[in-house]
Amino acid sequence: MTNSQNGWPIEPAARTPLTVAGVLFGDVRSGDVFTVLQYVATRYHNEVEHLIGGTCGAYNPRKIPGSNTWSNHASATAIDCNWQRHPLGARGTYTTAQRAKIVDIVNSLDGAVRWGGVYTTTVDEMHFEINADAKRVRIAALKIRAYAQTGVPVDWSNPTVQAINFFFSEAYRAEQGKAKTPYPSEAVLKTRAATPQEKADRAARNAFIFTSHVDGVDPEPVDE
Ligand SMILES: [Zn+2]
Repeated sequence: MTNSQNGWPIEPAARTPLTVAGVLFGDVRSGDVFTVLQYVATRYHNEVEHLIGGTCGAYNPRKIPGSNTWSNHASATAIDCNWQRHPLGARGTYTTAQRAKIVDIVNSLDGAVRWGGVYTTTVDEMHFEINADAKRVRIAALKIRAYAQTGVPVDWSNPTVQAINFFFSEAYRAEQGKAKTPYPSEAVLKTRAATPQEKADRAARNAFIFTSHVDGVDPEPVDE
């Protein structure tokens, strides 16, 4: 199987059309990639600037200009937002406030997505792409679905949002072997009481795990 630059396979069966706020992007890889890129496009429309019909894109079976590597658009794991306003190679096409919003959106996904505005070669400010393997994208997709289930807007001052984000960041770090979870073990809890913050974190995590099993928030198999 042929892969695009980010390692995702180019396969025709795994694509779904993405439409956000009435604007059609084209096909995006189905499943967790779709969930993550739909989230990016939705927040872009709501927080950065409105999407403009006919100037957004997704699946495109082409190679990266000037190279023999398949573009991430070929695996349907990249989207372009408002390409007329943010053409390839143009730097500084957003205001400082818009840029901050874009960074906030990308940072909320724990490395699952990269923005073309940070490319060191040819800057590409319209472009967002999956930049991680299936497990990491799955964690980001689960986080998005968890926010959707709580009905809580993504507001970083909200304790529920902080707890959900903390849980998924820990899950990611544990998977990467970068750190142990800081939650106290049963043995530790015999020697001291959990702090209010630890109790709140645990309650949020348990609520999420319970909900995900009961309501089937996680029904799709990982595409590997
Ligand atoms: Zn692009």
